[in-house]
Amino acid sequence: MSLWARHRRHFIGDYDYGINYAGFVIHSAIHAARPDALWIAHFHTTNGVGASAHAEGLLPLSQTALYVIPRLSYHDYEGVALHLEERERLQADLGQNKLLLLRNHGTLALGSTPGEAWTGIYSLEKAAAAQVAALSVGRDHVLIAPEDAQEEARRQLAGEATGNGVNRDTRKSHHQLAWEAVRRKVDRQLPGYAV
Ligand SMILES: [Zn+2]
Repeated sequence: MSLWARHRRHFIGDYDYGINYAGFVIHSAIHAARPDALWIAHFHTTNGVGASAHAEGLLPLSQTALYVIPRLSYHDYEGVALHLEERERLQADLGQNKLLLLRNHGTLALGSTPGEAWTGIYSLEKAAAAQVAALSVGRDHVLIAPEDAQEEARRQLAGEATGNGVNRDTRKSHHQLAWEAVRRKVDRQLPGYAV
């Protein structure tokens, strides 16, 4: 079996557990629709799932949320994603954005590099965690960023999304810097994890 074929299947030790079909439905939908989606991260964290169940969606209550909101799409929950026809709705809901909140389900980010997917899911997860924490005092007590500050932040953060964050000179993109940093951290904390 080729390395590629092996990685498409779910192995635990030498035992083949087949593919995760719901994972296949979601990921194949995005890979098919978006040639820039070479990497996809999809999480079911407590905070990501928690924010995905907030009726108003991601609220403009943190700077990270202000970065995420203009880049975020939503897809309604239809049950475990076992039906291929859900792919068309997933693709339509995602549109041209790179971040997706799967309602009642979790978070998703795509990128043309692992660093872009990583920084995307990191930002979405951080915004979700801040929202879950903020809403712990009740929706009525949460301070939403003032409209003019939201507009200013949108303008200030707009450049972050262009050109994959690549600097104008030969420096590495912030996506690449973050990816290399997180790889160093994992290497330190879990040496040999990639074996
Ligand atoms: Zn999932």
